[in-house]
Amino acid sequence: MSHTDTDTSVLIAGAGPVGMTTALALHARDVPVEIVEAESEDRDRSGSRAIYVHGATLRTLERVHPGLGTDLVEEGIVWPTRRTLYHGKEVFSRTYDSPGGSGDIPHFTSIPQVTTEAYLLDALDAAGIEIHWECAVKTVQSGPDGVRVETSDGREWETPYLVGADGGGSTVRNEIGVDFKGDQSKNHFIIADVHEVENKPLPIERVFHYSNPDVDGRNTLLVPFTGGWRLDIQCFEDDDPDELVKDENMSRFVRKVMGEEYDDRFEWVSTYQFKQVRAEHFIDEHRRVLLAGEAAHLLAPFGARGMNSGVADADEAASAIAVAYHAQIDAVAQDEVELFAARREKAADYNIGAAGQALEYLQGDDPVTVLRKEAAASLADYFEPAGEWLDDAPYGPHGKPPIVSTGNY
Ligand SMILES: Cc1cc2nc3c(=O)[nH]c(=O)nc-3n(C[C@H](O)[C@H](O)[C@H](O)COP(=O)(O)OP(=O)(O)OC[C@H]3O[C@@H](n4cnc5c(N)ncnc54)[C@H](O)[C@@H]3O)c2cc1C
Repeated sequence: MSHTDTDTSVLIAGAGPVGMTTALALHARDVPVEIVEAESEDRDRSGSRAIYVHGATLRTLERVHPGLGTDLVEEGIVWPTRRTLYHGKEVFSRTYDSPGGSGDIPHFTSIPQVTTEAYLLDALDAAGIEIHWECAVKTVQSGPDGVRVETSDGREWETPYLVGADGGGSTVRNEIGVDFKGDQSKNHFIIADVHEVENKPLPIERVFHYSNPDVDGRNTLLVPFTGGWRLDIQCFEDDDPDELVKDENMSRFVRKVMGEEYDDRFEWVSTYQFKQVRAEHFIDEHRRVLLAGEAAHLLAPFGARGMNSGVADADEAASAIAVAYHAQIDAVAQDEVELFAARREKAADYNIGAAGQALEYLQGDDPVTVLRKEAAASLADYFEPAGEWLDDAPYGPHGKPPIVSTGNY
């Protein structure tokens, strides 16, 4: 779409992983699409963000741009071992011969988001999809026939459909008058990304440690990704996270958990609170604006649902728009968009519920949960399922996904 002229490109706000996936998924369905992005082309997107990419996400990316999913698999790593400790004692460990399963796409891969985004950008380039940089959405006016958008560079756009993939502070969401609803944890989590020490690599395994004595009894999670490690520390409610992330404290934590060679290897350190929030509606009143990814929901990094569920949003938004775009009858077009919202709102509720369960499990003081964990830890030496339960319980979601037809959540 060229500005002010109306032709028929669908417009996407935001060139994060979700906006870029939406663009590829629309292009794959032969719908013209362009992206407007607030930041500049040479921006730095490094930092601790998604590393755990689910098989379903890889399959979606492979489907909408053949070769993209398998390229990410080549770049990423699949850890063969999962291990859990409880108060300094190992309670579970399992190593798989083929941890990724069979076929080209494994169950998951572990890769920094900045690398995933670089591959997405290359895919957009190959597909000839245009990104308009330094072009932030300012206002959105939707009506029965389409959407009018104003951007920060003074341009005006008309588009049949707008996808708001402009992240947690979404202007698109605010402009269509939709609020976030939900909750967040009282305590903080600390995340540090630590560079690999090439001549002294740690075993490639995911290690969860309940009440780790090395960090004064806080829970820790250590996850490998290509070129480094993610250390996740769960603060106590009365911790001061700003104090804990000071270099001297982080050095001590990293040294204790990972070994002396690693204590000056941490690159990014950040804190977050466990969010369980979603937009009240994922579409506007005229069924012309669709929200996807963090514009639609904020989920805890723990559980790795943010980008993964955002990619599922993207694919389903593109699928709905592709039908609506070609529909002869308005009611049919509106129905598709409503179906998108119904499915993705349900998926978000499922992910939020899973995050809530994980949070309650990790830090709740419900005596039944506390006793269950203690009992499982004391049985783990004799009864493997008890240790496996301790290993598995912090990650969600458990149970079947709510969207039976696609299995994507
Ligand atoms: C520490 C950490 C670890 C994580 N780990 C995982 C994980 O392992 N797995 C997982 O699935 N998820 C994980 N996540 C979540 C994941 O990083 C996010 O869910 C993901 O980045 C969301 O993508 P998005 O495209 O929706 O939003 P964003 O990445 O926020 O992208 C939004 C884009 O919109 C642009 N924008 C903003 N405003 C405007 C505007 N007005 N107009 C135009 N453009 C605009 C922004 O510049 C940005 O480019 C993690 C997050 C954190 C913080």
